[in-house]
Parts: sequence; structure tokens; C-alpha cells
Amino acid sequence: MRRQISKDIAKERVGILIANALKEAHANEKIANEQAYLARKIAMRLRVRLDYEIRQLFCKKCKKFIIPGRNSRIRVGRTNTKSIRITCVKCGHTYHKILSGRTWNF
Ligand SMILES: [Zn+2]
Repeated sequence: MRRQISKDIAKERVGILIANALKEAHANEKIANEQAYLARKIAMRLRVRLDYEIRQLFCKKCKKFIIPGRNSRIRVGRTNTKSIRITCVKCGHTYHKILSGRTWNF
């Protein structure tokens, strides 16, 4: 029970940190990276499963924080394909992301 509560708090904190990191991303990449790193550390320590939206902000290979449109390259496939390609500029790893119809505001 207690554990569940601390997990909820952790999830909330992680969400706030990620939101801040994204907000900060365009002004100060260093702060954004630190906040993202902290968010990941909290999540790992408490074994909190991050939401898909948050998980896809981290490169699957080098685990670095990927700032959409900043240090990642996003390529949209054919107009009727609902998938985009995200390339991590830090390690060059590319992965596909299938869009779920959600609106993205970056
Ligand atoms: Zn990477």
C-alpha cells in the first residue's frame, strides 16, 4: 500500500521533470538533460513504468534524452503511413514510431 503511494508520487515527479525538461529544452539543453536524467533515475529506483509518451523521449540505444525537433531528426513517411522515423543525433540510432492519432505539440 505504502509502496503504491510512493510510486504514484514518483510518477507525478517524473511527469513534472519531463514537462520541465521539454519546456527548458529550447532554452537550455543542459538543464533539460539534467532534469530528464533525474526523472529517469527516480523512475528506475522505484521501478516505475514510464508512460509511452515519456519513454519515447529517451533513445532506446544510448538512453539519452531526445528533444523532439532539437537533437532528434523526425521523418514522416508517406502521407498515408502513420509512422515517423526518429533518429537520435547523439548515437545515430533510428527507430520507428507508429502514431496513434494523438496530437503532438512540440
Ligand atoms: Zn541515441
